[in-house]
Amino acid sequence: VCPTAALTELNHTDKVWRVLNDPKKHVIVQVAPAIRVAIGEMFDMEPGSLVTGKLAASLRRLGFDGVYDTDFGADLTIMEEASELAHRLQHDGTLPMLTSCCPAWVKFFEHQFPDLLDIPSTCKSPHIMFGAIAKTYYAQKIGIDPKDIVVVSVMPCVAKKAEAKRPELTKGDNDNVDLVITTREYSQMLKEAGVDFKNLKDEEFDKLLGESTGASVIFGTTGGVIEAATRTAYEWLTGEELENVEFEALRGMDGIREAEVQIGDKSLKIGIAHGLGNARAMLESIQKGESKYDAIEIMACPGGCIGGGGQPYHHGDMEIIKKRQKAIYSEDRNKKKRKSHENQEVLKLYKEFLGEPYGEKAHELLHTYYTPKEKI
Ligand code: SF4
Repeated sequence: VCPTAALTELNHTDKVWRVLNDPKKHVIVQVAPAIRVAIGEMFDMEPGSLVTGKLAASLRRLGFDGVYDTDFGADLTIMEEASELAHRLQHDGTLPMLTSCCPAWVKFFEHQFPDLLDIPSTCKSPHIMFGAIAKTYYAQKIGIDPKDIVVVSVMPCVAKKAEAKRPELTKGDNDNVDLVITTREYSQMLKEAGVDFKNLKDEEFDKLLGESTGASVIFGTTGGVIEAATRTAYEWLTGEELENVEFEALRGMDGIREAEVQIGDKSLKIGIAHGLGNARAMLESIQKGESKYDAIEIMACPGGCIGGGGQPYHHGDMEIIKKRQKAIYSEDRNKKKRKSHENQEVLKLYKEFLGEPYGEKAHELLHTYYTPKEKI
């Protein structure tokens, strides 16, 4: 927070109330994986309280026309990202491949490492992928003009507001995601509406774009995106079923972590960094040729999105972050399906609309590009 109050946080709750009160608009909402393990703190619940069902119920109380889960977008991201990794490994593509779902990290990268712009995955982030599918496939399915659909994202992140406005991620006037609010802003809306969050009965997300697997839930913590991609890449590259989906070597809270994962006859070297200082150190070692990786995950916030800038304030208390992380892993363990390529709604989307993962239509809607920016 700026000590002189010269800078203040952008608050978009008014805009969300306005569209919710506009009868001409079909307003749908999605919530990121990290929200469900943190928002309870805004309602005097213990850190690490897992409130997925209350979250879905609360969104309905505010009057959204569709209540969806960014986890669906995360599973879709893995379908594309694991395909891209397999493609790069099998066709001598550029390695390492960097995950690309953290917009603060992408912005940092464009300014600080413009000579390495061929290494990030071209996949859009999960909530932007969700928006792209909402304005096309979903619009067709429900028979509504995409111009009348408003997509609201509830995110643990303030950088997602700027991400949603990146020219690379919007199509003409029809932004994939129209409005982004943080966990704190969403909590403010619930309080304004007098919703008794703590005592809500659990509800489910809506069908069509609401199914999720354990792989998508772990996107919320450092190491989770690369673990989810590894679960799918393993089965696709070996043709064998992965029995133990928990890659302990990729987990933990050290700022920089390295692990080797055996996939068939290939040993995949994976790097993980969280916090931009750690990310810079890792990338500089790649630049100097000191480190060789096949895949890297970087998240700007300590702990990943569970420690995001839009979450309930934790004031750097890593014990709170660890409790949120524990809750993320418990939701993963409780899921019947734990690999993204088992998500039936995602598979239906490919069958009915997108065609092959990493195919032409998927590229058009789900992939992006990066632009070198001036060093600041
Ligand atoms: Fe946003 Fe932080 Fe998550 Fe990056 S790590 S997407 S900046 S909340």
